[in-house]
Amino acid sequence: MSQGKAVIFCAPSGAGKTTIVQQLVKRIPELRFSISATTRSKRDYEEHGKDYFFLTKDQFDQKLEEDELFEWQEVYAGTFYGTLKSEVEKIWDQGFHVIFDIDVVGGVNLKKRLGDRALAIFVNAESVEVLRERLTNRNTETPESLEKRIGKAVEEMAYAPKFDYELVNRVLEDAVDEAENLVRDFIK
Ligand code: 5GP
Repeated sequence: MSQGKAVIFCAPSGAGKTTIVQQLVKRIPELRFSISATTRSKRDYEEHGKDYFFLTKDQFDQKLEEDELFEWQEVYAGTFYGTLKSEVEKIWDQGFHVIFDIDVVGGVNLKKRLGDRALAIFVNAESVEVLRERLTNRNTETPESLEKRIGKAVEEMAYAPKFDYELVNRVLEDAVDEAENLVRDFIK
């Protein structure tokens, strides 16, 4: 296996992590996004094999049984997400560094496993109110799933000190610049 590194991005839902990760992939050619498997249903703007591999619960269980997942979590009750070993190995074998967009528990586990080979960044919002506003404007949630995500976000914020770096996303453009500097410095 080549000496690829790993950059792990975690955040409470709505903190802007996915946008930051997507921008970093565009700006830093040495990075490749690890496409996760999930049992959640696809959103309209998402593509199978680009944003996620959308699997049935049976298909996900089979991956688990065959030991094909590097880590996995039931991020929301009944909804599973997992990092595919094949994705990470492919990226490293091709000579790239891997970037993860995963939940905080998965992120802490991966960091423990990868040690100095990984940089773990926690993207935070300024406040829970700002998070609520962003999630509401995103329009991807039902009122029920919105409350579920906010409750979880509050729990997730407590994990920030376990990360190598906490990046507060006040102005998206500045947060992306800051993330870019951190990542470039780490992989150089
Ligand atoms: P969403 O449904 O909004 O795409 O993602 C929900 C949460 O699951 C996010 O925090 C996302 O980063 C996380 N997630 C996505 N893929 C994985 C994965 O492979 N493993 C873990 N542990 N979490 C993931």
